[in-house]
Amino acid sequence: MSASDEVRKATDYLANGHPRRSLSAAWRAADSSLREGDADALRAIIAMCDELVEHPDRRVANDARQLSSYCQHTLDGAGGGVESHTIIARLSRMRQPKRVCPDCAEKVQQRARVCRFCGFRFPDLADPST
Ligand SMILES: [Zn+2]
Repeated sequence: MSASDEVRKATDYLANGHPRRSLSAAWRAADSSLREGDADALRAIIAMCDELVEHPDRRVANDARQLSSYCQHTLDGAGGGVESHTIIARLSRMRQPKRVCPDCAEKVQQRARVCRFCGFRFPDLADPST
């Protein structure tokens, strides 16, 4: 299930008067959001928690407060949050091997068949993986 689906489930539980079930769904949604890098889902969870922090059931209120700060931390990128996941993804793309176009001397992806700068077609298309 995707993060946004789980957020929807959590808000449904809340609307139907099941705050505890709503929170446990929201925790799962938070984990999925982190995995998927879905910042919008995290913001939706925080908004939902804000409605619950004043809940008369203290366990619900505390849980909501905890989840809200967890999501906030994740959004801020503390301890490997959404933003730093994005940076890691960007870095790993940068680390992909490059080849230099013999025509324009620009660096292009190792597996490129055509130079994206000048349109040069690489003659050696011996790709062992295809
Ligand atoms: Zn080129």
